[in-house]
Amino acid sequence: MPKYIVTIGLEVHAQLTTQSKMFCACPREFGAEPNTHTCPTCLGLPGALPVLNEAAIEKTILTGMMLGCETPPIVKWDRKNYFYPDMPKNYQITQFDLPLCIGGGVPLYDLAYPKDAQKSIVNPGKVVKLTRIHLEEDVAKSTHHDKFTTIDFNRAGTPLMEIVSDPDIDSAEEAFAYLTSLRQILIYGGVSDADMEKGNLRCDVNISLRPEGQTELGSKIELKNLNSMSAVRRAIKYEIERQTEALDKGEKLIQSTRRWDDDRGETSLMRTKEDAHDYRYLPDPDLIPLRTADIVARVRPLVPELPHEKRARFEKDYGCSAYDAGVLASEKELATWYEAAVGADTSVPPKKIANWVINDLLGILKDSEGGISSCPLKPEALSALVAVVEEGKISNTQAKEVFAEMFESGKPASEIIKAKGFEQVSDTGALEVIVDQILAANPDKVAEVKGGNEKAMNWFTGQAMKASQGKANPKIVTDIVRKKVLG
Ligand code: ZN
Ligand code: MN
Repeated sequence: MPKYIVTIGLEVHAQLTTQSKMFCACPREFGAEPNTHTCPTCLGLPGALPVLNEAAIEKTILTGMMLGCETPPIVKWDRKNYFYPDMPKNYQITQFDLPLCIGGGVPLYDLAYPKDAQKSIVNPGKVVKLTRIHLEEDVAKSTHHDKFTTIDFNRAGTPLMEIVSDPDIDSAEEAFAYLTSLRQILIYGGVSDADMEKGNLRCDVNISLRPEGQTELGSKIELKNLNSMSAVRRAIKYEIERQTEALDKGEKLIQSTRRWDDDRGETSLMRTKEDAHDYRYLPDPDLIPLRTADIVARVRPLVPELPHEKRARFEKDYGCSAYDAGVLASEKELATWYEAAVGADTSVPPKKIANWVINDLLGILKDSEGGISSCPLKPEALSALVAVVEEGKISNTQAKEVFAEMFESGKPASEIIKAKGFEQVSDTGALEVIVDQILAANPDKVAEVKGGNEKAMNWFTGQAMKASQGKANPKIVTDIVRKKVLG
């Protein structure tokens, strides 16, 4: 059985979070009444001229900087000609030979792999190389009904960033990790909402197989219309199997474009190379080339701390484990929430707060809608609870109960502790009286403690807890016994 080498490249279209469209002043946001965000420019009416959206250019260059790309000193815009009802001008303004960003790469984070694949990562720390990132305009949105199609031009002319990877991805799992990591970085930079389910992020996959030992790439098969992370993974898996079977049978694969059917879980042929478009790219005469030096200088200071940098800092400064730091840094909002909790009271160990966030908060948020962004618990409130536990005022088991109620009711820890009668006796004077009585009644145990028996020490703590009806602070009790017996 011959073994095949899998080569995958991804083209990702990301909608940018600008106020207005790419070449006109119409609002960019979605959800408005169809065909209300339009003007002669984005409807492609004769004589209407495009005007560049500076914010879209800045956000694309920022993306490039976050991913280590270079921006050429001069960039330009080109027309890509094809005829389609959702594109009123019959050409798309895009960038052909001088795009905004060249090179760079997307680091694949361990935790960005599918959960079931995180234990068997083939290339840990891999960075998938990028070819380019260019800026273009989106088309209108067609909706196909039973007997007719409607079209909404609100989306026509909105800025779209196309991120093209090298054929540098080896498996469905790496493609999944690539998209997840890229998504995290785009959100960190505030350049895109990057939600695949909402269509903010759309992905095309190029995939080819070749026999081991052959240097020339196999026929490129393109998969279109993938609109979720899991669809990308499943479609690639399916396609690897399909192509492997075909090659095993001695069939020749031809360059073609295929459509993924998510319900049936299979791909089907859309078109072959023979009927591929000839786009007849030509420089757009309405838009002159742009010098980028000033914009590059302006954008450079906007590069944020990236997920992997934040992860390293959480490990180093807060003593988090690599895993915990990775989880906390994976989502910008979660990282911000955690750091607010850490900053609320610097005497509380950040590592302890991390444990609570990861084990308890994320656990409880999993069952509630909206995740961390709609978390009813304030970072300061968690910090206050962890502080009480650290001081030994309540036990860990009690703290879990308090935590659940804080999340439910929004009440502060102190109030719930009081209401539940969890307040531990930490008053040294009162505890000393209790300990004195127990010591006096048990001279044999005192001798055992003196002889170095730690178990006897625990026995005293247990007795004091009993005498205080469980309200004594065990840590303080132990300290008192130690001091009284051992001096
Ligand atoms: Zn417009
Ligand atoms: Mn494109």
